[in-house]
Amino acid sequence: SPSSSSVIIIGAGVSGISAAKVLAENGIEDLLILEASDRIGGRIRKEKFGGVSVELGAGWIAGVGGKESNPVWEIAARFGLRTCFSDYSNARYNIYDRSGKIFPSGIAADSYKKAVDSAIQKLRDLEANCVDDASNRTELSLTPKTPIELAIDFILHDFEMAEVEPISTYVDFGEREFLVADERGYEYLLYKMAEDFLITSEGKILDNRLKLNKVVRELQHSRNGVKVITEDGCIYEANYVILSASIGVLQSDLISFRPPLPRWKTEAIKKCDVMVYTKIFLKFPYKFWPCGPEKEFFIYAHERRGYYTFWQHMENAYPGSNILVVTLTNGESKRVEAQSDEETLKEAMGVLRDMFGPDIPNATDILVPRWWNNRFQRGSYSNYPIISNNQVVNDIKAPVGRIFFTGEHTSERFNGYVHGGYLAGIDTSKALLEEKRKDDRKNDNQSFLL
Ligand code: FAD
Repeated sequence: SPSSSSVIIIGAGVSGISAAKVLAENGIEDLLILEASDRIGGRIRKEKFGGVSVELGAGWIAGVGGKESNPVWEIAARFGLRTCFSDYSNARYNIYDRSGKIFPSGIAADSYKKAVDSAIQKLRDLEANCVDDASNRTELSLTPKTPIELAIDFILHDFEMAEVEPISTYVDFGEREFLVADERGYEYLLYKMAEDFLITSEGKILDNRLKLNKVVRELQHSRNGVKVITEDGCIYEANYVILSASIGVLQSDLISFRPPLPRWKTEAIKKCDVMVYTKIFLKFPYKFWPCGPEKEFFIYAHERRGYYTFWQHMENAYPGSNILVVTLTNGESKRVEAQSDEETLKEAMGVLRDMFGPDIPNATDILVPRWWNNRFQRGSYSNYPIISNNQVVNDIKAPVGRIFFTGEHTSERFNGYVHGGYLAGIDTSKALLEEKRKDDRKNDNQSFLL
């Protein structure tokens, strides 16, 4: 007969682990975590590359030093995670053109201001919801055209929207960002969290309430409970389910629901955008790029928007590692995911030779994460359209019968971040416990009447 638990948590990323921890702390011992991949962590993931640990997914603890304390920063401090302060803002003064010249800071600053003004204007137009002639004209006149304008527009929209639109992470938790530079990886925090409620030994989780390589394909739900069916043909039963799969997975057909999800739910799921964000790592025999604190980030200005635009050297994180990271997003991410790594290496080397001359050495190794093509991710993080209202996120978060939803995409204030996932997990479990109490009371009353 199928195994039965009080609660099944689908997914062992940060939200699933934090949800399970809250349940365990509230006396729910017979929980079960089903994870599709062969590890915990989800979009927090380190890999050995060029002799050090690099973060393929979340790399920064974003939102530090503000009026409220970021809980992930607190956990990192408690467990002594090694981090280093990142200051992207200098990037705008390290902009290379295709002939390897650095734009003078005056030109860079002007273009930056223009791009910010343009973004603010677009936001105002959107908010006023007016698409009349006047706003069309403004947009046209401020549309980025030159390589430097395109590069700055890309940085602003794909990395630094906080400068234009207030983002809770930076408003509430502070504007500082810290890069995780720890051999144990960002995921070390998840192992430490799991240790509180799962049986572990020498850094490994041995508890049979965590099942890896369990791909959930179907949820059959009714007033009485939920049946969870996995790809390998196993059936698990529970009173409640917490589903932490990403918004990209919810938009895909990986998991089917019987009966199907109601329309308000599927419509809301469709409305949330999925961002793809790809950090490509390149290992070199020696350094040929400028180093030092104000040189950590640099920009390549090309006529194609987002073409190998944003670069970082890893000397601050791991001195002597001789590693560069270039970040691609969305369309460029998908394009690169579809081609061979050799092709990508060739493109990246072409860009580096534009910036630093023909004599630089070839990279000896390359690492290209594929978040878009990973069927357990289908993208990097959620992005609610600027003009969407809170109703969308509330609908995405709202339970359907006994199925509860969690994950970074269900966090109203902090979607897209590790702390968003962490806090969402706590929130969802609290809502579930509340519902369970109500149910338990109802059942008590019924048995009393009988
Ligand atoms: P996930 O980590 O995706 O966990 C969900 C889990 O569910 C996964 O383990 C998945 O395998 C599993 N799963 C999916 N489908 C099924 C199924 N059918 N059956 C069973 N299991 C299933 N955040 C920051 O704060 N700072 C950053 O610098 C940052 N950079 C990022 C860079 C990249 C490249 C990416 C990808 C993300 C980045 N983020 C960053 C976002 C951050 O990583 C996420 O917000 C957070 O880790 C999401 O956690 P989660 O628990 O919601 O989802």
